[in-house]
Amino acid sequence: MEQPIKNLNFIDLKRQQQEIKQELEQAVLRVMSHGNYILGPEVAELESNMAEYLGIKHVVTCANGTDALVLVLRAQNIGYQDVVFVPSFTFAASAEAVRLVGATPCFVDVDPKTYNIDTNSLLQAIDFIKKEHPELKPKMVMPVDLFGRPCDYDLVNQIAQEHNLFVLSDSAQGFGAEYKAKKSACFADATTTSFFPAKPLGCYGDGGAIFTNDSELCHLLKSLRVHGKGADKYDNVRIGTNSRLDTMQAAVLLEKLKIFPKELEHRQTVAMLYNKYLNGLVQTPVIDSQYKSAWAQYTIVLPENIAREELMAHLQEQGVPSVVYYIKPLHLQTAYNDMPCVNNQLPVTEHLANRVLSLPMDGYLQPEMVEAICYKIKSFFECAV
Ligand SMILES: *Cc1c(COP(=O)(O)O)cnc(C)c1O
Repeated sequence: MEQPIKNLNFIDLKRQQQEIKQELEQAVLRVMSHGNYILGPEVAELESNMAEYLGIKHVVTCANGTDALVLVLRAQNIGYQDVVFVPSFTFAASAEAVRLVGATPCFVDVDPKTYNIDTNSLLQAIDFIKKEHPELKPKMVMPVDLFGRPCDYDLVNQIAQEHNLFVLSDSAQGFGAEYKAKKSACFADATTTSFFPAKPLGCYGDGGAIFTNDSELCHLLKSLRVHGKGADKYDNVRIGTNSRLDTMQAAVLLEKLKIFPKELEHRQTVAMLYNKYLNGLVQTPVIDSQYKSAWAQYTIVLPENIAREELMAHLQEQGVPSVVYYIKPLHLQTAYNDMPCVNNQLPVTEHLANRVLSLPMDGYLQPEMVEAICYKIKSFFECAV
């Protein structure tokens, strides 16, 4: 009889903690003793270290990845009757941020191989809005580095330039990813990320950040995250909000950032092992040579003859957790199904939502474990044919 795998988590955050437990404890205790809980020295230090790591001029941290999107939308004055083009195959926060400022997300299809925004669909969507909704103004495109893989920034930027769209990249899953040997944070007008615990670089609570080379935008974002403060702390010059990264979280992130490059390499190794063992069995993630994924998720596409629910149940029985990201595309969700959507259907998005499956992935998953997981998948496939 096959034995189930023991102690396998979908994302193992404990192993990482063991690695730097002392450093983390000291970092948190330092914050407790200096007492600058809001925008303390660790926040500025993190912003500076992160800017250096990413090769970008400005890092503005904030309360979470959703706020990061909202802050940029607000800084760009996006609101009522403005349209932001968003892929439908993403986490709800991408479109939610657009709705929160009163603007309209127009849903765009994705590429079947990369799961990222399909630029042909984007062009169709721009046409669609101009023809069908002349009352709305196309203002922005929000590509998403889904599962950690950067989108095709050259193509997106080119289309954005031709149509006068601001590019806001939702890289909540893409921290550390690369395109053409540069970090993916460097290509859009502004890029946001999330430090939610399960993201590639996670803190011990909520956190987020915005990356940009635009000094004016950086200045505006730093005002918006503290109630619209002006040069004089008690003269608020605009309506802002309260969206700061806690000093405690910055202290945790400073320690985690130090080991992040090593973890990223390990994720890459794990992904290549998965590719090797699953090759020919399922559609494995396609990452061309100019791209490096941050591997937020390792996501496969199942063939038509495999019942996903049954496979997941089998894997669960065998001790292998798996998750479907994302089972319901945004254009079909209750809160968003009245928003415009190019040609009123997104076939690739709908196909992927039915067929994808994400497997365990983190910076510490052992090669033998990857092999064992793939063996469990193979044995199910053999019974299915
Ligand atoms: C996680 C995530 C967000 C939101 O980040 P929070 O920090 O949870 O607010 C936004 N977009 C995408 C694609 C995400 O995966």
